This record gives sequence, C-alpha cells and structure tokens, in this order.
Amino acid sequence: MTIPTETDVLIVGGGPAGALLGVLLARRGINVLVAEKQTHLDRDFRGETLAAPSVVTLRKLGFGPAISEHGYLETSAVSMRMEGHEVFSVDYGRFSIGTLPIDIPQPALIGIFIDAARDLPGFTYAYSTSCTGLVEEDGVIRGAVLKQKDGSRVEVRARLVVGADGRFSKVRKEAGLDARVQAMERDFLSFKLPRPADWGDSAQLVVDRDKHLVVLPTFPDFLRIGHNLPKRGLGELRKAGFDAFRDGIAAIDPRLKPLLDDHLHSWDDTGFLEIFTAEVDQWARDGLILIGDASHTCTPILGQGVNLAIQDTVCVAPVIARALEKSGPGGSVAAGEFTEFVETRRKHKKRVTRFQRMQEVALAQRSPAKVLLRRLRFRALDRLPVKYAVFGKVINAPHPIDPVDLHVPQPKSPARPQPQEAL
Ligand SMILES: Cc1cc2nc3c(=O)[nH]c(=O)nc-3n(C[C@H](O)[C@H](O)[C@H](O)COP(=O)(O)OP(=O)(O)OC[C@H]3O[C@@H](n4cnc5c(N)ncnc54)[C@H](O)[C@@H]3O)c2cc1C
Repeated sequence: MTIPTETDVLIVGGGPAGALLGVLLARRGINVLVAEKQTHLDRDFRGETLAAPSVVTLRKLGFGPAISEHGYLETSAVSMRMEGHEVFSVDYGRFSIGTLPIDIPQPALIGIFIDAARDLPGFTYAYSTSCTGLVEEDGVIRGAVLKQKDGSRVEVRARLVVGADGRFSKVRKEAGLDARVQAMERDFLSFKLPRPADWGDSAQLVVDRDKHLVVLPTFPDFLRIGHNLPKRGLGELRKAGFDAFRDGIAAIDPRLKPLLDDHLHSWDDTGFLEIFTAEVDQWARDGLILIGDASHTCTPILGQGVNLAIQDTVCVAPVIARALEKSGPGGSVAAGEFTEFVETRRKHKKRVTRFQRMQEVALAQRSPAKVLLRRLRFRALDRLPVKYAVFGKVINAPHPIDPVDLHVPQPKSPARPQPQEAL
C-alpha cells in the first residue's frame, strides 16, 4: 500500500493502544498513520482480559455494539487455590461498576477499532510496515523511517510520533529513552484447552508451592492456561521431555488431566512469554510520546496490560489534540505538553507494578514453612472486606474520558441489526 509521507501523528504499533488512539484522533479530524509491522491481525495469544472500567469506556466510545456482535465472555470472579485448598476469591459483581470484566481476543478488538476508523478521512492503518529509525532535527523528533514489506524504506514526517510499539519498543530505544527492566523470577509457558461446559467463568490461580497455573476462561470456549517456569528454565523443561511437562501440569491441577491427555500433544501447542517489568523515567521528547507497554511494561498478574493501554490512550488523545492545535499548522508537539499525562499515568502504573511484584514474590515461595504462612495469609486476607478496596485500586481505576470523545460519529450506512445481548 502507498503510505502518506506526511501526517499529523505517526503511531508506531497497531496493538490495542495504537489502534484505539488512531480511531480517537481520526474522529477528531486529525491525520493519522498507524504503522504496524505484522502482516495481519492474527497474532499469537496476548492479553485478552478487559477490566470492567475498560468495558465501560469502550461502550461510551461507541464500540459496545461491535463487541457484542463479535461475542465475548464475562469473568465473574478471580479465585486462588493453594496446595488444593480454596484460599481467596474476589467476586467482580461486588464492585459497583455495573459490568464485569470480559474476555475478547485481541485481534477482534483491534479489528473493531480499525473498522471504526476505516472510513474516516485521514486515517491509514498500514500493515507490514516497521519503524526502523526516527527522524530527528535539532533535538526534535520530526518523523520516522518505515520499512515496508517489499523492503523499501519511506521517511514519514509527522508533527508527533507516538511509540505504541509494545514491550520491546524500537521507538523508545531509537529516542534514547532508557527502560529499567526488572526480570521476574519466572517466565511463562501458555497453552489452551477446550473448556468443559461446567467449568464456570472465574479466573483461577492454582498454586502448588513455587509452581502455579493461571487458568482463564477464554472466548469462545477455551481455557487459556499459563504455567510458570524458572527464569531461563525453558531449556531444562524441554530436556525433561513433553510428557514430564504435561504430567507436571496435571500434578498442579488434577482436574485438567483428562483435557491435557486429549488435547495437549507437543511443544508446538505452547507459547513462551518472558516476564519482566519495565519502567521508563522519561516518556516524552519534543515530537514524541510513548504509551501502553512501550512506556511501562507489567507482568500478566490480574491481566492489566490491555487495560492500562486503553487507559493511556483515552487520557492522551485529548492532550494530543490540544497540543496540535496549540502548536499551529505544521508545528511539532513539545514534550512539556505531556507532563501531567505522564505524571498521572506513571503513578497508576507504578501502583499496579508494585502490587504485581508483591504477588510474584508470594508465588515464588517454596519452603514448607513459607508456603504454609502464605496460605494462612491469603485465608486471612480473604475474610477482610478491605480486599475489595485493595483490588479495586489496582483493577478498577476509572478512565477520565474527554467529553469530545463521547460524541461518537454515527455510521453513514444503515445500521446493522443489533444483537439481543447489549454490552
Ligand atoms: C505473548 C504475550 C502474552 C500476554 N499475555 C497477557 C495476559 O495474559 N494478560 C495481560 O494483561 N497482558 C498480557 N500481555 C500483555 C498485553 O498483551 C499488553 O500489555 C498489551 O497488548 C499492550 O498493548 P500495546 O498496544 O501497548 O502493545 P502491544 O499489544 O504489544 O502492541 C504493540 C504493536 O506494535 C507492533 N510493533 C512492534 N514493533 C514495531 C515496529 N518497530 N514497527 C511497527 N510496529 C511495531 C507490534 O507488532 C504490536 O502489534 C501479553 C503479551 C504477550 C506478548
């Protein structure tokens, strides 16, 4: 495809953050090019959980009917089972948000965003287009070099470059913005199994000493299971053989044994995820801002990655719109325009990371005394109503939406019939 060589905003990365930002800016009449290095949306499994405030936000932004039309799965609770005992649970219905978290595949969600922007003037979503470097003049970022599928390189000039290119952000690196990466003690191997009809719709953490499984009911009828393994432990695990791996999973959660025997056949059925947190001190430079995982990477605990990406996006869209207006025709956006955005978002993301690191430490315990103590602690915490306040702060932070973004453009073509179930 031919991509514009000049635009108002060049967004590098068309994941949840980049694609949603593209729609929100295009709705405001801003020219936007989203450059996505993948050739299609069919990506491997990524975070699929939308926390309840994200569901509310997306509904307010007009994506509710498309999400309902695609279909999703509600998650009613999260529970924790340790060494065979149910020790802790949080009922999502107890939060006064009015909706539950949902699971929807990431390709579907991104597709919904792209579809919403497709007919808006000035919106381009370019697949197979990677950012290979930034264009910098006198200390200001003026655009980026994009490599297309045929190997050709195009220099795109932009008034603002947004780095929404995920946990290994090229934009962050090229801009010289350092990330403090902290490896967690474990990595993850994940796989999916068919979900038995009577399984229920709670997210579960099944812990056996220093081993655990995250078991997530996933749309439409799967269980997505993440298994922790020691850092750099994949080689050892593979050496021990696939059968040993499968038996190890069944030992942690014997309910899964028949499903594992019937449906998990080889390492090809699994996917690897390196777990780390990354904190970036500086998110903005003149002409550049980072959002989503590029600005702050979390661990998968409590499935906050997509939620945080959506929060960043709804917060930054009006800031960008105002800054472009202020800088006048052709002017770049100064880093100072993002000071408040960065401070607010960093504070919340730090809180999430702090919580996740505490959980990581708790889950890595292996001595019998510490394992017993951990179980008692979670049991005690389970009885305290304060658990809802603690959880709520991490997962239910509201998204302040700019009133302009609430004026959702109506489709020009006759509306498609709405499904029975409204989101
Ligand atoms: C394998 C995996 C499993 C995960 N599981 C969970 C989970 O269970 N729960 C959870 O909450 N979170 C999970 N996450 C994290 C979650 O997916 C992210 O937090 C969320 O997607 C962040 O959105 P984002 O738009 O900021 O970044 P991303 O979703 O990473 O999107 C970045 C986009 O940028 C593109 N890109 C990268 N480099 C370039 C470049 N140079 N040029 C152009 N495009 C580029 C990528 O192809 C990608 O589409 C997982 C992530 C991975 C990778």
